[in-house]
Amino acid sequence: MQVVFLGTSTSYGVPVIGCPCATCVSTDPRNKRTRASVYIETDEGMKLLIDTGPEVRLQSLREGVTHVDAVLYTHFHADHTAGIDDLKAFNAALGGILPCYGDAPTGASLRERFGYAFTGTPWIGLIPHIRYTAVDVAPFYVGGTCIQPIPMRHGSIRATGYRIGSFAYLTDTSGIPATSRALLHDLDAVAIDALRWEPHPTHLSVPEALAPIAEIQPKHAYLTHVSHALAQEATNRRIGPDVEVAYDGLRLGL
Ligand SMILES: [Zn+2]
Ligand SMILES: [Zn+2]
Ligand SMILES: [Zn+2]
Repeated sequence: MQVVFLGTSTSYGVPVIGCPCATCVSTDPRNKRTRASVYIETDEGMKLLIDTGPEVRLQSLREGVTHVDAVLYTHFHADHTAGIDDLKAFNAALGGILPCYGDAPTGASLRERFGYAFTGTPWIGLIPHIRYTAVDVAPFYVGGTCIQPIPMRHGSIRATGYRIGSFAYLTDTSGIPATSRALLHDLDAVAIDALRWEPHPTHLSVPEALAPIAEIQPKHAYLTHVSHALAQEATNRRIGPDVEVAYDGLRLGL
């Protein structure tokens, strides 16, 4: 399977508008981050998008994503959903309705905010047209690809991580329950939320992200949804050789 990090930033993006900090003025292209999302081509040939942030169109153009079979939503926050209108291009590529999956509160929020995408009328090209299926903890299939939801705490709400084969994507979490950590063994790679070094009420800090990584022992681990507090090179030097900060455009062949 192939994983492409479309975006790796927290909700502000990096650089942050108007911020003069060393990360935000850095010339390292890896310190230029769009909102968190990944694109996955599975061993069974399914093309999956996890989340549709505000830059989904630019991310898709940048990485050559031309076709999506389904979208998996982690939760309803705007930095993960605000680009939903651009799914109409993938409706066009599919020639029909785009299946989307996520938990029930995310579906309710999308329906409330983007009701026009759920009309059920024949798709004619002007608007996105999605069919939302609520998932809980049970594995489900997209085409021949088995997808395991990973329930996580995200402040006062729940976010859903996803395990697909030997890869797990765990963004926007302030805690991964033991029942979910039990679903994360024998991974080749994991991407996990790490906002900054200091604790935060709705996201893991770097030390809090390294703890479950040490427990589940994936072959490789990548920090994502990072803020401008985590400059690429300096952070990589601090966290050691087996973990690295993801960056926009990073590709994993698993
Ligand atoms: Zn987020
Ligand atoms: Zn900054
Ligand atoms: Zn969030």
